[in-house]
Amino acid sequence: MQVPPLENRDAAAMCDLYGEIARCTACPLFRTRTNAVPGEGPVPCDVMLVGEGPGVEEDRTGRPFVGKAGHLLRTLLREEAGLDPEAVYITNVVKCRSSVLQNGRTVDAPPPLSARQACEPFLTLQQMLVRPRVTIVVGSVASRQLLGRPIGEVAGTLVVYPDGRKYLPILHPAAALRSDEAMDDLRCQVRGIGMWLDNNPDVRRRAEDYARV
Ligand code: URA
Repeated sequence: MQVPPLENRDAAAMCDLYGEIARCTACPLFRTRTNAVPGEGPVPCDVMLVGEGPGVEEDRTGRPFVGKAGHLLRTLLREEAGLDPEAVYITNVVKCRSSVLQNGRTVDAPPPLSARQACEPFLTLQQMLVRPRVTIVVGSVASRQLLGRPIGEVAGTLVVYPDGRKYLPILHPAAALRSDEAMDDLRCQVRGIGMWLDNNPDVRRRAEDYARV
């Protein structure tokens, strides 16, 4: 019997996980989702990116970071860091949209604790399958979850753990859309990611170098 290469087995395990996420009813967000948004990108992948959770456009399409904030982030990665988003494994702390009704309109809301807890095992498994050499941490929810620190303390720095895990935290692009100052800060932080990648050229691979899930 031919055993598939390890990488293919990881990609297959990720596909299974996507099915599990799509069927998940572990927190109340499943009631209001259109689509779960598990993540996308090569598996394994040297660069992983973790955001907060899907917004309206992500909920509609089932893809992460495809709304206004996502478009900004993808553009900055390309233009300021020279990083092709297709060569990044992109996901969120929470996989279903969190929203509230405000003046008759449904608007995005920070994901509740129940959702963050329910999704934690999914993110842990994704980290194990993706095996990133560096993780871009986007915004306060992801920073709290992955680093246990407020984003204001760590944005723009390299966080290295004794076991070798490396994180590059940055402000959330939604904050940059609300404030010129945050936009300048985010641009600068993404430039810093580019500089880190320039100093670690083996981590900067092209999308074509990866097999996609
Ligand atoms: N904001 C996030 O944090 N994640 C997305 O996927 C979209 C917007």
